Amino acid sequence: MSGTAQIGVTGLAVMGRNLARNFARNGFRVAVHNRTTAKTDALIEEFGGEGDFVAAHTPEEFVAALERPRRLMVMVKAGDPTDAVIREFVPLLEAGDVVIDGGNAHFEDTRRRERELREHGIHFVGVGISGGEEGALEGPSIMPGGSKESYASLGPMLERIAARAQDGTPCTTHIGPDGAGHFVKMVHNGIEYADMQLIAEAYDLLRSVAGYSPARIAETFRGWNTGRLDSYLIEITAEVLAHTDAATGKPFVDVVQDRAEQKGTGRWTVQTALDLGVPVSGIAEAVFARSLSGHADLREAARTLPGPTASVLGEAEAAAFADRVEQALYASKVVSYAQGFHQIRAGGEAYGWDIDLGGVASIWRAGCIIRAAFLDRIRAAYDSRPGLVSLLLDPRFARETGTAQDDWRAVVAEAARQGVPTPGFAAALAYYDGLRAGRLPAALTQGQRDFFGAHTYRRTDREGSFHTLWGGDR
Ligand code: NAP
Repeated sequence: MSGTAQIGVTGLAVMGRNLARNFARNGFRVAVHNRTTAKTDALIEEFGGEGDFVAAHTPEEFVAALERPRRLMVMVKAGDPTDAVIREFVPLLEAGDVVIDGGNAHFEDTRRRERELREHGIHFVGVGISGGEEGALEGPSIMPGGSKESYASLGPMLERIAARAQDGTPCTTHIGPDGAGHFVKMVHNGIEYADMQLIAEAYDLLRSVAGYSPARIAETFRGWNTGRLDSYLIEITAEVLAHTDAATGKPFVDVVQDRAEQKGTGRWTVQTALDLGVPVSGIAEAVFARSLSGHADLREAARTLPGPTASVLGEAEAAAFADRVEQALYASKVVSYAQGFHQIRAGGEAYGWDIDLGGVASIWRAGCIIRAAFLDRIRAAYDSRPGLVSLLLDPRFARETGTAQDDWRAVVAEAARQGVPTPGFAAALAYYDGLRAGRLPAALTQGQRDFFGAHTYRRTDREGSFHTLWGGDR
């Protein structure tokens, strides 16, 4: 006999529990299950009144509670636990059922799982979910991959629980087959790393060169948040900077150890970009900046390596410098997004996904960590030119970065002069200049490769590949 729950969620830690509540609050009947049954009971006890839940204490009970074809969402720890749970459930399912993995899976794992479940006639949907614990409850940005058929069954439900952009559009769309959803979520996180690094560099410059206090930088960021930099990350950064540590009365940021941790999605983005041959230098610098901060053994160099100590500007100069930092931050941010969207386009081509880049920008406008006002403009850029090769070729972004460049260059130069590390700003500017260059020194690189390895080169004036007999005998 078929059950009546429209969706089931197994794995009731913070994310699974909040997603289950979100489905229930939106009027769906939700079966809930967790390996440790106490968590299932706790959910019912605390939140059972919020909607229509069916508690299941065994996998068999859980599967039996679901209407057919079943929709079963797995929200357990990514990696081996996800495989273990899938192995446990597959024998209990039948052709046509939909298994949804909402964890932070690597897209290659999703591709493998999709292949394996397809052999049983089961649809496997890898779903990237961004927005953290609060987003899961209030409305996340949801990036589902999988068959069109599975989206027809699942999509309308996801559209109900997703965040909504200001124009009312739900922040979810069918991204593409198999691993496309998790791939796009991975790049989302890579861009998030880059965004955070750029904001951290802006803070560092305002603190050490402009001489602003954390509270004043919070004010500056609040001002920026009313303009083109309007974004969740700028907003929360202002809050973090304005926060005072209760125990010491010091600015919170001064009592936190300066070692940034990472869970791995930024690293995956860069590893994948290397495989695809896509230059995502801003994201890579952000990942490396976190790595550098984590090497305690390298910190000894702070006492031994010579270099300038940043000197603080006067009040009037500081205000002008802060305006320049805003320009540098905005232009570098545009570069990060241009690189991330390039990676999505390249991934789509390599894996045969037909990803609508404007659609991706659209569903990142609310619910997710990188939500920002300017995603509307990215969407508009792709909507007006779907084949756009780079965001930096969009007339509006080209004009804006072009206008920002004098200040951007001045900030990178001042940072280098004063010894303030700005790997994100500098890498973004180098990328911009790399795109601008009529002729790159890659010609010389080709000459070197031909010299030591007979790798051949192409000429500017003739077709074909050529090799020079260097020194007569190579
Ligand atoms: P989590 O700490 O990653 O995982 C805990 C859950 O996994 C518990 O329900 C646990 O069950 C279950 N689990 C672990 N190993 C298991 C196994 N071998 N068999 C069955 N169940 C097992 O939980 P989370 O933070 O809520 O995240 C869930 C997923 O969402 C993860 O993949 C995570 O990467 C992803 N995600 C998290 C966030 C976030 O902000 N936290 C955002 C987006 C996506 P027990 O209670 O029995 O131990």
